[in-house]
Amino acid sequence: MSQLTEQQINKMAAQIYQMIEKPSIKKTDKSETEHQTMGVFPDIDSAVNAAKKAFDELMTMSFSKRKDIISEIRRSMDIHAEDLARRAFAETKLGRFTDKVEKNRLVIEKTPGPEILEPVAFTGDRGLTLLELAPYGVIGAITPVTNPTSSIICNTIGMVSAGNAVVFNVHPNAKEVSTYNIILLNEAIVKAGGPPNLVTTVQKPTIESAQALMKHPGVRLLVVTGGAGVVNEAMSSGKRAICAGPGNPPVVVDETADIENAARAIVKGASMDNNIICVDEKEVFVVESVADQLIRAMAANKAYVLNPQQMFELSKVIFTKDNGPEKPAVMNKSLIGKNAQEILSKIGLNVPEDIRLAIVDVKKDHPLVWTEQMMPVLPIVRMPDAESAIEIAKKAEHGFGHSAIMHSRNIDNLSKMARRMDTSIFVKNGPALSGLGYEGEGYCSFSIASPTGEGITNPRSFSRERRCVMVDHFRIV
Ligand code: NAD
Repeated sequence: MSQLTEQQINKMAAQIYQMIEKPSIKKTDKSETEHQTMGVFPDIDSAVNAAKKAFDELMTMSFSKRKDIISEIRRSMDIHAEDLARRAFAETKLGRFTDKVEKNRLVIEKTPGPEILEPVAFTGDRGLTLLELAPYGVIGAITPVTNPTSSIICNTIGMVSAGNAVVFNVHPNAKEVSTYNIILLNEAIVKAGGPPNLVTTVQKPTIESAQALMKHPGVRLLVVTGGAGVVNEAMSSGKRAICAGPGNPPVVVDETADIENAARAIVKGASMDNNIICVDEKEVFVVESVADQLIRAMAANKAYVLNPQQMFELSKVIFTKDNGPEKPAVMNKSLIGKNAQEILSKIGLNVPEDIRLAIVDVKKDHPLVWTEQMMPVLPIVRMPDAESAIEIAKKAEHGFGHSAIMHSRNIDNLSKMARRMDTSIFVKNGPALSGLGYEGEGYCSFSIASPTGEGITNPRSFSRERRCVMVDHFRIV
C-alpha cells in the first residue's frame, strides 16, 4: 500500500463515517471491508473480531516484522505530531497546542519498543529453561480526554511491540482526533507489511461501548487510563485489568533546596498542558523560611501571584461545589485545561498571555490543595518544617500512589519523602514530567498504573510469561 497524503486520509475518514452509517457495508465482501475501514467499526463486536483476525495474522509474522511496524509507527507519528496536537486542541479545547506537540513527541521517542522484551534463561546441570514474553491477544484500551493522541500512540507502541492487537474505546469528547489517529496508525502498520486492523475503534465511543468492551469475551486484557470511575469499573469487570488512575501530585520544597531551580521546575511542570496531565504538580508545601523566596522566584518565571481577595473571588468561579476543608471540591468543567489568562479574566484580571500559571498562598485545609484541579492555578502552603510538609503531602495525595516531587539537597529528607509517599513516580529536583523521561532519564508512558501496580507501563506490562524447558541439554559451559 502506498503512503497516503493527508488530504486522502481526511477524505477517507469522512468516507468511513458515511459508510458505517449505511447498513449496506455489512453486505460487501468482508476482507475488502476490513481494508476500507482502516480500524474504524460500527460496534465493539466487529472491532474486536477484526482485531482478533489481525492478531492471528501478526502471530504468523516474524519478530523483525514487528520491529519494522513499530519503526514505521514512530516515523509516521513524528510526521503527524503537530497536526494531531492541533486537532486534539481544536476538538477538546483543553491545554496548550505547543505542549501537546511535546507530549506527542515524548511518547513517539521514548515509549519502549520490542527490544525491551528480553528473555531470561536459567541453565544448570539439568539443562536450560527459557522465559519469554508473549502477547495476550486482543487488549481493550480506554483512553482519557486529557491526553487523547499521546495515550493512543503510547498504548499502541507498547501493546503492539508486545505482539498484541488493540481495540480502543476513546473518550467521546476526543473521538474525531482519536479516530483520525487510529486511521493513521493502521496506515503505518499496513505500510510496514503488518495486518490491517491491528488497532481498531468504534465509530461512536460511549460509556456503554466502553462497558461492552470490558465484557467482551474476545478481550483478554483491559488497560484503562482515566479517573476513579473507569478504574473501578475495570477492576470489577472480572477480567485482568491494568488501571492507570487519578493523581494529586504534591511537591515539597525544604529549606535546603535550590530555590531558583525549584521555582523554574514547578512553574514548568504545573503549567504543562495547563495542568491536565496526571503527573503535573497539583499543590506545593514549602518550608516557611524559604516560602517568600520561592514565591518571588516563581513570579519571576511567569507565575502570577494571587492575593487572598482574588483567590476568594476565583474560588466562586473555579469551583462549582465546595465540599469544605480538606475535601476535594467540584471543579468548573468549562475552565478545566484553560490558559491562566482566560481563567483570571473571569475575575476581571488582565494578565499577559505568557503567564503560564497562577499561584496562591493558602492554608493547608484549602479545597484547592485537596482537588485534582487540572487548571493552571496552584496552591502553595507554608509548613513549619520538612517533616510536617511530608506528612501533609502524604495526606493530600489521597493514597493514589501516583506521583510526588521534592526539591531538597538534604538526602535524609529526600529518602524520607520517597519512602513515605510510596508513589509510582518520585521526582527529586525537577519537574514531575521528568518522571516520564521528559528532560530526564528513562522511558515514557502515559498510562501510569498505580492502582494495579504496573507503574510506568511498557511492552512488558502487556505481556505474559511463557516458559520453555530443555532437560539435560543446552548448557554449553
Ligand atoms: P475520565 O475518567 O472521565 O475518562 C477516561 C475514560 O474512561 C474515557 O474514555 C471515558 O469515556 C471512560 N469512562 C469514564 N467512566 C467510565 C465508566 N464508568 N465505565 C466505562 N468507561 C468510563 O477521565 P478523563 O477526564 O478523560 O481524564 C482525566 C483523568 O484521568 C484524571 O483523573 C487523570 O489523573 C487521569 N489520568 C491518569 C493517567 C495515568 O497514567 N494514571 C493518565 C491520564 C489521565
